[in-house]
Amino acid sequence: MRVYIKYKNCIDSMESFEAKILDLACKEPNYNNQYYAITFTTDPNGEVIRSCYSHFVGWHDPDEKKVELRAASLVRADRFVEIWRDISGEGCFIVDTVQDVAIFLLFGGHALVEKTVAEIEIPEAIEPHPVIWTEFGGFIDYLSLPEEVFNRAPSRKQRMKIFERDDFRCRICGRRPSDYTDIELHIHHIQPWAKGGITKNENLITLCQTYHKGLDPHYNPKLFDLIASSENITNLQQPSKDYWSRIQQYRNKITEIISNEEDVTTKKKQRNRKK
Ligand SMILES: [Zn+2]
Repeated sequence: MRVYIKYKNCIDSMESFEAKILDLACKEPNYNNQYYAITFTTDPNGEVIRSCYSHFVGWHDPDEKKVELRAASLVRADRFVEIWRDISGEGCFIVDTVQDVAIFLLFGGHALVEKTVAEIEIPEAIEPHPVIWTEFGGFIDYLSLPEEVFNRAPSRKQRMKIFERDDFRCRICGRRPSDYTDIELHIHHIQPWAKGGITKNENLITLCQTYHKGLDPHYNPKLFDLIASSENITNLQQPSKDYWSRIQQYRNKITEIISNEEDVTTKKKQRNRKK
């Protein structure tokens, strides 16, 4: 994470950080350049994540074929400017220089990053990453997931958590075993295990045996709506609101990282002086 200090120093020498932000947010891409579409934001746990428009380059787990390796793709800049600025209203930076990278990393959000600048300054953001496709949250960084989500059966603790979250009722018919002796509660993977679904709370729902067996087709994405209010599932109808609160969270996190780095640097300097 030392990288952030380097970029902060880059900003300190600038006349006005805010003016530069505005400049990058209004700039048009240079159509002679090639761009990657990259986003820096936070996940529902507040951790920094990067995502990018990407393409499949192979399997991280060739036997199971659950985890894809995806690398950043070069994109049509005009299309992304249209989607991000005009359609979603989320905006995007046009990043053509090292100084622009500094602004982007400190501010977060979407950016079109010029090919060579990205390859030299933020190679880790464009190289192949292991990711897993989820129906509830799109591509998720494989390395950010705990191992348990790859066990088909939820642990006893997780089962209890899901039952509690669902008020010990079948989420479809609302019946609970305490009222109906013939009811047996099952935990169902909404995105089926066989179709890459993982054992994560956002993908699990409580159903009675009747509805569980009767599910036809076995994968019904509408079930996500039934648990959306209790889980942090992004509402696709309101991406912008969620987007801006995550960007704010990203900036807070970066400020925290930088001040920690500065503490470490200061302490090192003090130690060196004592020697
Ligand atoms: Zn039921």
